[in-house]
Amino acid sequence: MNKIKKMIKKLLVPERIICADEENNIFEETALEITNNKISGFIPFEKINREEYDEIFDYPSYTLIPGFVQTHVHLCQTLFRGLAEELPLLDWLKLKIFPFENAHNEDSLRQSCRLGLNELLMSGTTTILDMGTLRHQQIVFSEMINSGIRGFSGKCMIDQNDLLPEFKSSTKDELQDAFQLAKNYHNSHYGRIKYAFAPRFVLSCSEKLLKETKEIIKDFPGSLYHTHSSENINEIREVRRRYHKENIEYFDHLSLLDDYTVLAHCVHTNQTERKIIKEKSTRVAHCPSANLKLGSGVAPIPDYLKEGISVSLGADGAPCNNNLSIFNEMRLSSLIQKPICGPESMSALKIFRMATIEGANALHLNKEIGSIESGKFADIVLLDLSSSSNSLDDSNVYSDIVFSSNQQNVKCVMINGEWKVKENQSSIYAENEIIAEGKQELGKLLKRIK
Ligand SMILES: [Zn+2]
Repeated sequence: MNKIKKMIKKLLVPERIICADEENNIFEETALEITNNKISGFIPFEKINREEYDEIFDYPSYTLIPGFVQTHVHLCQTLFRGLAEELPLLDWLKLKIFPFENAHNEDSLRQSCRLGLNELLMSGTTTILDMGTLRHQQIVFSEMINSGIRGFSGKCMIDQNDLLPEFKSSTKDELQDAFQLAKNYHNSHYGRIKYAFAPRFVLSCSEKLLKETKEIIKDFPGSLYHTHSSENINEIREVRRRYHKENIEYFDHLSLLDDYTVLAHCVHTNQTERKIIKEKSTRVAHCPSANLKLGSGVAPIPDYLKEGISVSLGADGAPCNNNLSIFNEMRLSSLIQKPICGPESMSALKIFRMATIEGANALHLNKEIGSIESGKFADIVLLDLSSSSNSLDDSNVYSDIVFSSNQQNVKCVMINGEWKVKENQSSIYAENEIIAEGKQELGKLLKRIK
């Protein structure tokens, strides 16, 4: 006998709705209707029939926005926050991050993911593109699944490593493991979890690994090719020495670049490389905090945007930031360009879109998430802007969010129609517990290195 699944209808009644749709609509005196896991309508206050709904949430002083999308994070690194300071990229990897990641076991990785996911959810990020880790990648997926977050991850692939020779595996094993993980997890949990193939960066991957990974991706439509590129001067100098090409030119020479490729950073690129990125519709994940903290440089984002290149935002990992909140990335990605390009560059609205609909677009999820529109998944954040706004109307609301707000302004977070955070309380994690467990696991991990 077929059971008819009951439809659950929720109504959210906020002060205003910021849509991040094509017209940048902002609605007042309007409620948002959610049926099961999707947005099903905008209801003007005078037309609300409260009887129709299973649940009604009245938030008369909150601003409803789409959940934030971060297109470059490393959940596996959250435990290492504050433990890799004042180092440039290659030393940071060699002396700290590769030894730490190499020492992960399933337990330490689990705690690292939980801490990262909690921080992301509490600060309003509802979708991520995560670069996984060399070993135990199934733990990253199981934690993403349990947290309810939407997004991509994939084992970080390394088959050559001059910086830490023991932190790698064979090309064959890397390809086989990635294929199997993609088979197990791509499009799992009703499509909420997807696979992103993740060769770490050019200096840790053989040509064979980079190219054959691009072949495997064809078996998994909707999966991504996620790597780092052109982050640091010494990195690209080494790429030039080995391959006699610039980083992006080398990737293009191997036919790796298309619109399903996401390149983190792209700080140091020449005109030819920018042309390639544009022509191939390759996505740039901009991580301003990490670029500043590792002293890598300021990415030429206004130039990319002028060219029509897709740019979205990511916090990168906790040890190069040292925060995972997108509010820091939004604020910085605007401010660091203003002394170079003028105060009119990188407007708050542009930045807000980079953190929402442009992030969704980078991941090819723009038909499903990234804006508040009927038919999209109910991935929603409610902000209390009362402490960060003097506005009497909506004219400054994007500035209030991008420049004046932070994680404290995030009150409620919904993903796929389910509350993950309500009134600053996580419904997933007991924060004190995961912090204590994280410390314990970090202690054990550090002992494994000595
Ligand atoms: Zn990274």
